[in-house]
Amino acid sequence: MMIHERNKKLWEHMKSDCSKCSGLCCIALFFSKIDGFPIDKAPGQPCINLLKDYRCKIHSQLEKQKMKGCIGYDCFGAGQHVTQVIYQGQTWNDIPNQSMEIFDVFIIVFQLYQIRYYLTEATSLISAKPLKKSIQCLIDENIKMCHYRPKDILSLDLEQYRNKSNHILKQVCKLLQQSIHSENKKGLANFPGGNFKGQDMSGADLSTKLLIAANFENSLFNGTIFLGADTRDTNFDDADLSEAVFLTQGQVNSAKGNRNTKLPYQLEYPSTWK
Ligand code: SF4
Repeated sequence: MMIHERNKKLWEHMKSDCSKCSGLCCIALFFSKIDGFPIDKAPGQPCINLLKDYRCKIHSQLEKQKMKGCIGYDCFGAGQHVTQVIYQGQTWNDIPNQSMEIFDVFIIVFQLYQIRYYLTEATSLISAKPLKKSIQCLIDENIKMCHYRPKDILSLDLEQYRNKSNHILKQVCKLLQQSIHSENKKGLANFPGGNFKGQDMSGADLSTKLLIAANFENSLFNGTIFLGADTRDTNFDDADLSEAVFLTQGQVNSAKGNRNTKLPYQLEYPSTWK
């Protein structure tokens, strides 16, 4: 199978499908009211709005009730994998004595899926064969780890795997910036709340930048790196993000946009974008 065909298949596995999950993100994670969740809660405690069939009681009102944390969260498909593959359809409700184990496994698998998402995109961005091969090895290792038994997942050295992946992703970002020959220094700008309407942001490295409530209406983002950027309430109305790099569904869900906003092909329009 050609690598790009294989990656297309991998993208499909990284779209979250809540109907095949058991509300894991609404239980396993710590979250707080201040971050746009309904309550302050500890990991392992179900959200007050989680129904018995694992749907959200206020799903249609999340925007109205300003549940920005819920809207912005995306598990990259880890939830359905843990529920359907690792526990073969058994949920924390079916096997309550294993519930804490399920939640801990979900948190690790979520991180592996997040890393795999970036690695999958990285393979499509570069042509250097040795680097491409190293990335593919990391993806293969990732898939293998996500199929381990729960006790083996819990004893993984995640930090070591993350460090190896980060090292490669840094090289990809560097190559990408060199290939774009960008003189764009907007990566140094002060973004939160700033107005960048209509600006060409192509080639800027916005990794880990706080873009909160910045206005990028009608801006262009060819080759712009979004790795770990905070896009809460960032305005992308009419912007062209189709060639943006390392942009995730969670970042898009947290941001504002409209139906004229152009997105990378693997991402979907949030229902809140009209
Ligand atoms: S409000 Fe709904 S989406 Fe948000 S954590 Fe609770 S159950 Fe999940």
